[in-house]
Amino acid sequence: MTRMDAPIFDPAAFRLTAEEAALTAKAREFGARVLAPRAARWDREASFPTDNYRDMHREGLLGICIPADEGGLGAGFRAYCLTAAELGRYCGATALTWNMHVCSTLWTGALTEDLEMEADTRAVHRRRRRIHYDRILRDGAVYSQPFSEGGAAAAGAAAFGTTARRVDGGFLVNGKKIFASLAGHAEYYGILCTEQHDEQKLSRRDTLYLGVPATAPGVTVEGEWDPLGMRGTVSRNLLFKDVFVPEDAALMPAGLYFQAASRWPHMFLTLSPTYMGLAQAAYDFCVRYLRGEQPGTPPVKRRMYPTKQIAVAQMRVMLEATKALWFQVITEAGPDPTKEQMLRALAAQHTVMENANAIATLAIRTCGGQSMLKSLPLERIYRDSRCGALMLPWTAELCLDRIGREALYEKGETD
Ligand SMILES: Cc1cc2nc3c(=O)[nH]c(=O)nc-3n(C[C@H](O)[C@H](O)[C@H](O)COP(=O)(O)OP(=O)(O)OC[C@H]3O[C@@H](n4cnc5c(N)ncnc54)[C@H](O)[C@@H]3O)c2cc1C
Repeated sequence: MTRMDAPIFDPAAFRLTAEEAALTAKAREFGARVLAPRAARWDREASFPTDNYRDMHREGLLGICIPADEGGLGAGFRAYCLTAAELGRYCGATALTWNMHVCSTLWTGALTEDLEMEADTRAVHRRRRRIHYDRILRDGAVYSQPFSEGGAAAAGAAAFGTTARRVDGGFLVNGKKIFASLAGHAEYYGILCTEQHDEQKLSRRDTLYLGVPATAPGVTVEGEWDPLGMRGTVSRNLLFKDVFVPEDAALMPAGLYFQAASRWPHMFLTLSPTYMGLAQAAYDFCVRYLRGEQPGTPPVKRRMYPTKQIAVAQMRVMLEATKALWFQVITEAGPDPTKEQMLRALAAQHTVMENANAIATLAIRTCGGQSMLKSLPLERIYRDSRCGALMLPWTAELCLDRIGREALYEKGETD
C-alpha cells in the first residue's frame, strides 16, 4: 500500500473545481506509487524516464490538456499547473519533461481560444492540431519543446536563429538547439524557428512553431549529458540540417506564437509547477525525517530541538508564501494581463524557483549529514531545485530585471 501525502493545495481550502480535485488526487497517487520509486534510477543514470511515459500514456496523462471534445482530459491552465505540481513532488525530471510535452497541447489548445485568428486560419489550425493530438492519444507520441539556442532568442530578446524556408509542400529547417530536454526520446520536437524570407532580417514576428519528427532525415542528437540536476531530462543538443517538414507539421499558424507570447505571457510560467512540487517535497522530507518517520532512516526523533523547530517554521513560512502567490497567479492567468498581474506573475516565478532551492537547502542543514546520502531523495531534490532559476525565458535574474524596470517605468518613459 502506498502512503498518500496530503494534497499541496487542499481542494476545500483552495476551492478547487471538482475536475482539479480529481486530477490532483490522481497525480498524487500516481506520483507516489509509480514515479517516486523510480526517480533515483533516472537521476543516477542520467537516463530518460521512458517507463514513466508509457504509464502516463495509459493513465491518459499525455493528453491532459487536449480538449475533451478531441479525446483528451481537457484540463485548462490552472488545472494543469496544480496537477504538474503534484507530479513534481515525486520526480522532478519527469514533471519537467512532461511539461515540455504538455505545452505542445496546452499552447495549441485552450490557450489559442483566447487568441485572434481569421475563421479559416482557425479551421486549418484545428485540423492540424488534431493530427498531433491523435498521435499523442493513440500512439503515446511524446513531444518536446527545444527552444534554447545559447543566444538571446530563448529570452525573447531576438529572433530564433533556427530557420524554416518555405519549399514545395512545407519547410526546410536548419539550425541548432541546446538543452533540448527529451532529445533522442521524444517522437516529435516542437521547435521554435524563424521563417526566412529571402534576404530580409529575421524577425520575431515570423516565429514558427513546428513539430519535427525525430526520425526526419537531417535531425541529429549530439553532446554529452552529465549535469548537476534534472538529470533524467536528457537535455542534449539537437541539430537540423535541411530537414523537410510538411505544412501540417505547424503546431500554430504563422504569427500566432508571437501573438501568444505577447498576449498570453503566463504561458511561460508552465515550468514553475515542477518546482512548486519540489518545494513541497523538501518540506515534507524534513518533517518526516525530524519525526523519525522517513523510510530508509532509523526511527530517531530529532523534533525536540528548538533549532529544528525554528528551521521548520521558516520553511513553512516560505512554503505558504510561495503557494499563496503562485496559486493567485495561476488563477488569474489569461490573455492581456494588466501591469499588476504581469509583475505578480514574474514575482511568482522568481519566488517558486528560488524558494524551492532555499527550502531544500534549509532541509539539508536542518536534517544533517545522514539526510544527504544518495539513498534518500533530499539531495536529488536539492540538485533538481537548483535548476529552476536558470530556465529561460523567465530566469530568476530576468524576472528581477523586468520587475525592477517595469515597476519604475511606464510604457514609453525614459530618462
Ligand atoms: C535541466 C534543464 C533542462 C532544460 N530544458 C530545456 C528545454 O527542454 N528546452 C529549452 O528550450 N531549453 C531548456 N533548457 C535551457 C534553459 O531554458 C536555458 O536556455 C539555459 O539554461 C540557458 O543557459 P545559458 O548558459 O545558455 O544561459 P545564458 O543565455 O548565457 O544566460 C545566462 C543568464 O544570463 C541571463 N540572461 C540571459 N539572457 C539575457 C538577456 N537578454 N538580458 C539579461 N540577462 C540575460 C539569465 O539570467 C540567464 O540565466 C533547460 C535547462 C536546464 C538546466
